[in-house]
Amino acid sequence: MSRGFRLDEAKRQGEKLAVDEGNTSFPVDLFAIASKREITIEAIKDAAPGVSAMLLRVGDTYGIFYSTAIPSRGFQRFSIAHELGHYFLEGHVDQIPFDGGIHASRAGTFCRDVFEQEADSFASGLLMPSRLFKRALNGFEDGLAAVKGLAGLCQTSLTATAIRYAELTEAASAVIVSTGKTVDFACMSPAMKSFAKLTWLRPGDLLPKGTLTANFNAQRDQFDEAERNDETELRLWLDGTRSRDVLEEVIGLGRYGKTLTVLTCPDAGGDGEDEEEEDSLRESWTPHF
Ligand SMILES: [Zn+2]
Repeated sequence: MSRGFRLDEAKRQGEKLAVDEGNTSFPVDLFAIASKREITIEAIKDAAPGVSAMLLRVGDTYGIFYSTAIPSRGFQRFSIAHELGHYFLEGHVDQIPFDGGIHASRAGTFCRDVFEQEADSFASGLLMPSRLFKRALNGFEDGLAAVKGLAGLCQTSLTATAIRYAELTEAASAVIVSTGKTVDFACMSPAMKSFAKLTWLRPGDLLPKGTLTANFNAQRDQFDEAERNDETELRLWLDGTRSRDVLEEVIGLGRYGKTLTVLTCPDAGGDGEDEEEEDSLRESWTPHF
């Protein structure tokens, strides 16, 4: 089984759990899911540096400790959902290392271990099931407004929400997280991929010079949470693409000097506004199963 397939499957299982447990609106209730399995969830202040949460195992009894070192509710919820992933995903509790009955995780750090990646994928699906997420997405303007709005609804971090947004939006959109001059990671929505048949930024690449993001990062201080936006050309970001307008929105993530960039092409996929309106009308009249 390929890694990509395993990660998709983990995400589907997270989504399925959210739906099976009766979550019909956001935020998904992690505590209800845990308490049904008699898994206790507790906050701790003194976790080891970098540890986001821990799964405790005593015989067949499980518990979750999550760290409050990073005071973001969204990050903490992702960390809890990650541990639930280890609990629910097949094979995890038998294969992940437990040291004295404790498995320590570093959720959302893009670690290469497949079990950790699967647990992150599960967490994303559990906290942001696709059908609910897509329905909520229609209530926001494309771009950073949608990411912020959805993060508020789902109680998820801006970064995790932006990644999910890029997966599920119909807009031509790209999401980039960067530090200083360097790209941490980048992902594109399917519509953006369809007209960007070219190499996209990889982790460790330099940010393209002259972009709002590169300039913002050159000036920002570590704790900056400022927002900027600029109407620019996609060509600045993607070599070889034909000239196309793009809105570049940038926000400082306020810790470790990271920056989130959302690129949105306003005329994606040739969808006129009328067509979009028709679509959303059709959507509201179509039953979902
Ligand atoms: Zn883990």
